[in-house]
Amino acid sequence: MPGTAARSLSIHRQGSRREWPVAVKTRIALFGPPGSGKGTQAKYLAECWELRHISTGLILRQAIAAKTSVGRKAEVYMNKGDLVPDHLVHQVVEDSLGQVGYDNFVLDGYPRRLLQAQQLDKILGERGRHLDMVLLLTLPTEIIVKRLTRRRVHKLTGEVFHLDYKPPTGIDPKLLVLRPDDRRDVVWERLRVYRAQTQPVEDWYRKRGLLIEIDADGSIDEVHERVDLALAGGSP
Ligand code: AMP
Repeated sequence: MPGTAARSLSIHRQGSRREWPVAVKTRIALFGPPGSGKGTQAKYLAECWELRHISTGLILRQAIAAKTSVGRKAEVYMNKGDLVPDHLVHQVVEDSLGQVGYDNFVLDGYPRRLLQAQQLDKILGERGRHLDMVLLLTLPTEIIVKRLTRRRVHKLTGEVFHLDYKPPTGIDPKLLVLRPDDRRDVVWERLRVYRAQTQPVEDWYRKRGLLIEIDADGSIDEVHERVDLALAGGSP
């Protein structure tokens, strides 16, 4: 079947491991408002379903840390909660997709604008490929704000904590930082930008029958299970 590969998945469920033969969708985009747990679920998808994780946000943050010219340009927009200009992100995505050979990937945080969705279609279409599935994580706004403003990142390891749900016990508070774009005012701006720019992309994929909605309110494991079900062709 084009776009899918036969896999036998070893899933850990309720204390036991079970083999689950599935036809896995191999080209996936993961959507969701900031704070919906996109990064966590994309990482899980990549590990469990043997996909390459392409996170434009992460690549841009690495570019900022490395002080590259893309990083320096992107930083100004990211710190305000704005989207980075398409031409900068386009290059990042084209390079990343090229490196993974245009198959077996999960895109996290891309596309975020209609123009990006069209560019993605073009990049894949020129190689006889297309997206197989778009997963949308949904979450009420008040939970999003609480999740993001109380999130902390370890300065040295990059590990992500949450002051309520995953407390950084025993870690020197000086090593824990609030991401500049997790400040309350910036979170509201990111949500506004998401509604204005990215929701139309969701609708675009919904009309094409590619979008599957996943309730992201729950524990990380509960959402993992819903994601697994969606990929295995069940209803999340
Ligand atoms: P994320 O880690 O996905 O929440 O992304 C963090 C920030 O990186 C966003 O708020 C944007 O400023 C920028 N960014 C990530 N992906 C994109 C994209 N596809 N288009 C434009 N900006 C992006």
